[in-house]
Amino acid sequence: MRRTLIAGNWKMNGSLAANAALLAGIQSGLDQPSCDIAVCAPAPYLAQCQAALSGGLVAWGAQDLSVHESGAYTGEISAAMLRDVGCRYVIVGHSERRAYHGESNELVAQKTLRAIKAGLTPIVCVGETLAERESGQTGQVVGQQMDAVLATIAAADLSNIVVAYEPVWAIGTGKTATPQMAQEVHSLLRKKLAEKDVAAAANVQILYGGSMKPDNAKELLAMPDIDGGLIGGAALKATDFLAIIRAA
Ligand code: PEP
Repeated sequence: MRRTLIAGNWKMNGSLAANAALLAGIQSGLDQPSCDIAVCAPAPYLAQCQAALSGGLVAWGAQDLSVHESGAYTGEISAAMLRDVGCRYVIVGHSERRAYHGESNELVAQKTLRAIKAGLTPIVCVGETLAERESGQTGQVVGQQMDAVLATIAAADLSNIVVAYEPVWAIGTGKTATPQMAQEVHSLLRKKLAEKDVAAAANVQILYGGSMKPDNAKELLAMPDIDGGLIGGAALKATDFLAIIRAA
């Protein structure tokens, strides 16, 4: 039985004061949640998350990591550093990193492996652009993104990853995939995972991301292969994030 995971992606938003209020709001509003919860904060605020969230119900994670282990990589943040500040999760291959930082399927796969080796749970993002969807390439695009990761990690590592299907055209746009559209891709992704290991694939949490909000979360989360959400905008307001957690 897969647990639902509701993970917030704060992107490049926040401040010490705003985060303190947001985290306090989330924590005070949690009423025996039956799902896993995480916030993925900008790196400078991970220690703040550690201080505020340790021992509680909300895990924290980063939004990216270096593919390198350590050394002369100015500006990079290693998996071990993320572990050091208590991260459980790290987002890998978000479409904004693929688009603005040129991250290839191969780099995303190597980062996934780096995260796993360090004991982090990578949230591996895949998703198609609007042009790719409109030209009927969705399955091929997300399939190739997933294949690169599956070719790099061991079958035993499937139990250590989370996958997030995030159609690029739905991120931050207010456009959401219909539950049926999302389910179709989630089911395809689970079949891909099953090519690596049938039993493990059945246990991988596959999240949906792309304008998930309090008013559409319930119907998306009701789909059989949608095991949670990666939430951008709505994760920045405690009331919205809590409403999605309640929907789960
Ligand atoms: C995201 O960036 O991962 C995301 C899903 O954003 P939003 O919810 O704002 O579309």
